[in-house]
Amino acid sequence: MDDLKKENKENKESEVTPKYPPRVMSGIRVTGQLHIGHYFGALKNWIQLQDQYSCYFGLMDWHGMTSAYKTTKEIKTWTRDMMADMLSWGLDPKKSIFFIQSRVPEHLELFMIFSNLTPMGWLERVPTWKDSEEENKQADTHNLGRFAYPVLQAADVAIYRGALVPVGADQVAHLELTREIVRRFNHIYKANLPEPKPLLTENPAVPGLDGRKMSKSYGNGILLCEEEKELRKKVNLMVTDSHRVRREDSGNPELCSVWSFHKLFSNKQDQEWVVQGCTTAGIGCGDCKNKLFTNMNDMLSRARVRKKELLNNSNELDSIIDEGCERARVEAQKTLQFVREKMKL
Ligand code: SF4
Repeated sequence: MDDLKKENKENKESEVTPKYPPRVMSGIRVTGQLHIGHYFGALKNWIQLQDQYSCYFGLMDWHGMTSAYKTTKEIKTWTRDMMADMLSWGLDPKKSIFFIQSRVPEHLELFMIFSNLTPMGWLERVPTWKDSEEENKQADTHNLGRFAYPVLQAADVAIYRGALVPVGADQVAHLELTREIVRRFNHIYKANLPEPKPLLTENPAVPGLDGRKMSKSYGNGILLCEEEKELRKKVNLMVTDSHRVRREDSGNPELCSVWSFHKLFSNKQDQEWVVQGCTTAGIGCGDCKNKLFTNMNDMLSRARVRKKELLNNSNELDSIIDEGCERARVEAQKTLQFVREKMKL
């Protein structure tokens, strides 16, 4: 409890001095292998944040189970694979704490406590529940776990006394419910868990091969560990500007998926080459895709090697996972002790 008081004081002080950085908490739902949408939407920011803050990054397998409850045998493999990807793309266990949600059961105790003080109406209004209710019924995921998902999210952040949650500008509203739940807990039990604030990060839209948002459910993704041959095939499948029918037609990069990927993977010089060549018919779409493939493959190949090393050396990967989960659990237990004391349990 003394630690918690000290930390809250530190978090307040951090607003005026960087000496005590507030804690950052973020997680990725475990639903399968990571794709490049995960990198640009989360991991790239995490890599930068780990040098500025004390960070807790989780692989949220219980959240994954709200939809993958019939295929749980895959979850353990996915989780290890995701951790190997995160480490091979630059996340550093010496700088941040990485944990697997189900290895820290304290999340669930706090979730239960928060469930009691969350009015049903708050959850019924959550857009992701309301808007996808019909879809959930059809996918057989119209369940209590999915409905109560935002309460578990609030517990995920509060269990580490997370003060900042990295989000893109379009996701700030999603954090509001977490803030309300924590605020209500603090009000009822006269406590001072940090009310997490959004930490605005860049969150560029990453299109899939078909131009829609990259997503596992659309099957239009490029994996972070995509092999060279498969990557080549996927780049060739990317949808180009449909008005550019013949080689001599000029094109508009803004109407082309290949250009969206150049903006993420190519340097300024290559980007200028694409814009100039496309709009004047100076290059063909094949040339453009070849350049993109080379640039993407350069980036992916470095991570591929490291990932293979990690997966081939189970001891190293297991000890990183075990140590991260242990360290996370120690902090989670401190929070629960504080919570129980406040509730006079
Ligand atoms: Fe797209 Fe490149 Fe072809 Fe232009 S040249 S339409 S940017 S693939």
